[in-house]
Amino acid sequence: MSTNVDTLVDELLKQYDRPDAAAAELLCRRHPRDAVAFTVVDADLSSRDVTYGELDEASGRFAAGLAGLGVGTGDRVATLMSKSVELVTALLGIWRLGAVHVPLFTAFAPGAIALRVTGNGTKVVIADPDQRPKLEPGPDMPAEREWRIVVTGEPSGSDVGFADLLASDAPAPDPVAVGGGGTLIELFTSGTTGAPKGVPMPLRGLAGMHAYQEFGLYHTDDDVFWNAADPGWAYGLYYAIVGPLATGRRSLLLRAGFSPALTWQVLSRFGVTNFAAGPTVYRALRNADVPVPGDLTLRRCSSAGEPLTPDVVTWAQEVLGVPVRDHYGQTETGMVIANAWHPDLVADIKPGSMGRPLPGWRVEVLRADSEEIAPVGEQGRVAVDVPASPLMPFTGYRNAPERTAERFSADRRWYFTGDVATKDADGYLTFASRDDDVILMAGYRIGPSEVESALTQHPAVAEAAVVGEPDELRGEVVVAHVVPRPGTHTGDELVAELQQLVKTRLAAHAYPRRIYVVDQLPKTPSGKIQRFLLRKR
Ligand code: ATP
Ligand code: MG
Repeated sequence: MSTNVDTLVDELLKQYDRPDAAAAELLCRRHPRDAVAFTVVDADLSSRDVTYGELDEASGRFAAGLAGLGVGTGDRVATLMSKSVELVTALLGIWRLGAVHVPLFTAFAPGAIALRVTGNGTKVVIADPDQRPKLEPGPDMPAEREWRIVVTGEPSGSDVGFADLLASDAPAPDPVAVGGGGTLIELFTSGTTGAPKGVPMPLRGLAGMHAYQEFGLYHTDDDVFWNAADPGWAYGLYYAIVGPLATGRRSLLLRAGFSPALTWQVLSRFGVTNFAAGPTVYRALRNADVPVPGDLTLRRCSSAGEPLTPDVVTWAQEVLGVPVRDHYGQTETGMVIANAWHPDLVADIKPGSMGRPLPGWRVEVLRADSEEIAPVGEQGRVAVDVPASPLMPFTGYRNAPERTAERFSADRRWYFTGDVATKDADGYLTFASRDDDVILMAGYRIGPSEVESALTQHPAVAEAAVVGEPDELRGEVVVAHVVPRPGTHTGDELVAELQQLVKTRLAAHAYPRRIYVVDQLPKTPSGKIQRFLLRKR
C-alpha cells in the first residue's frame, strides 16, 4: 500500500469504516499467510517468529472454543495476560466472534480488575497462571461473578484451559462483521486525573491506528519495529499489537517485564531500528547504571503518554544517536498530534513541542471558557474539530452521559481533550498541562510541564512534579516535588540552585517557592504522575 499522505486517510477509512468490516479479516486474514506478524522474544533473548497464517489458524480454533463457552457478538471478554502469542491469539479469536476485548493490566490489584469486569456483560476472563489468584473471591473481588475463567496454564476447578479451547474440534467460525461502528475494545483511561473512564473503541478506530503506524511512527517494511509499551493501556494495545497487525508488518513482542538491562539487550540483539516507549522508559534507561551497547541500529524513536522533557531528547541524541520524537494522544482518540517520522510530514522538529496534528485531524487551541480560537501563542484548551477530523473515533464514555457531555461542546463540533497548550504560527503545539493542573498565581497562568522541564535539566534531578499550593496572598504558589538521582546531594543548596534554574531558564515568577525532596512520586499503574494526589497532600 502506498503511504501517500494525501490519499491514505481516505483509503483507510474506506477499508475500516464500512458496514461489512470484520476485525479478524482486516487484522489477520487479509495478510499473506507466511508473512511474520511477531518475533516473540523471551527474557533469555531466545525468539520465535509467528506468521499471520499461524495466528489465523490458532485464533480460529480459539474462537470456536470461546463460542462453546457461550461468547457471541457484542459480549465482553477480558484478558489479564502479559505480552505473548496467546494474547494475540485471544484478541483475534475474540474479534472473530464479533466480541469486545477488555484489556486488564497485569499490575492491577483485584479491586481494579473487578471495576472493569463487573456489571458490564463480561462473559469470560482469560488469565495467565500468575494472575489467576487475583480472581479469587475476596474483599475486593465479588464471589458472585457472571464470567467464566480461562487460564493459559493448567486449569483447576471450574476453570477452562486455554489449550483445551485451542483443541476445540468445532469448525472455526467465519469472522463476524460488526462494521465500522461496532465496538472492538473497551478500555479504561489511565486514571491520572481521577477515576478511570470506560472508553468504547469502535472498529473504525483501526483507521487511525493504522494511520499512526504509517505517519507518526513511520513503521516501514524494512524496519525492526518494537513498541515496548504494555498492552494493558492504549499506547501498548493500539500501537504494539493492533496497529502493527493492521499494517501486516512484523514487530517484536517481548515476553518479559521492563528492565533497563533487558531493553538494551533486545535493542542490540534484534537490531531494532524503530523504537517506541513512554517517557518513563527513556528516563529509566538514562538513570540506570547499565552500560549502553555500542552496536545500536536505531533510526527512529518515539514517545507518547506524558510530556517528553528536553533532557530526555538531549540524552537520546547523544546516547542513541537519534532524537526521541514526541507524540500526543489519548485513550479516547488514539494519536492526534505528532512530530511525525513520515518524511513528508514534519520537516523541522521544534524542541519542547509535541508537533502538529496528524493527517485526518484538525486541532485548535480555544480560549479559556469560550469556543473562540485563541491567537497564536496564547495558552488555551486543546480541542478536536470533530467534523473536520475524519479519524476521530470517540463518541462518548460507557454509561457516563455527564462525563461525556463535559467533553463536547453543545453542538458537538468540539471535543475538549482536557489539556492546555499553545499553538505557534507554523501550527506546532506545545503542551502546558492538564486543565486541572494549571496553576493560577497572582493572575498568571503557569503550566507545570514547563517548570518540570526546567527542573529536570539539573543533573541531580531524576524526576519532578510541579503543582499549585493554596496561598493567601497570591491564590496559589508553585511548589515542586523532586526525586533526586541516586548518589546526589540534596541540601538547601540544591533547593536554591533549582529555584535559580527555573528563574533563568523559564521565568522569574514561575520558580517554585517550596521544593520537597521525595523518594518517589504518586503514579498510575502505567507510570503517569498523579498531580491531583500531590495537591491533596
Ligand atoms: P484520565 O483521563 O483517566 O485522567 P489519562 O488522561 O492519563 O487518564 P490516557 O488516555 O492514557 O489517560 O492519557 C492521555 C493524556 O496523556 C492526554 O490527555 C495528555 O494529558 C497526556 N499526554 C499524552 N501524550 C502526551 C504528550 N506527548 N505530552 C504531554 N502529555 C501527553
Ligand atoms: Mg484523560
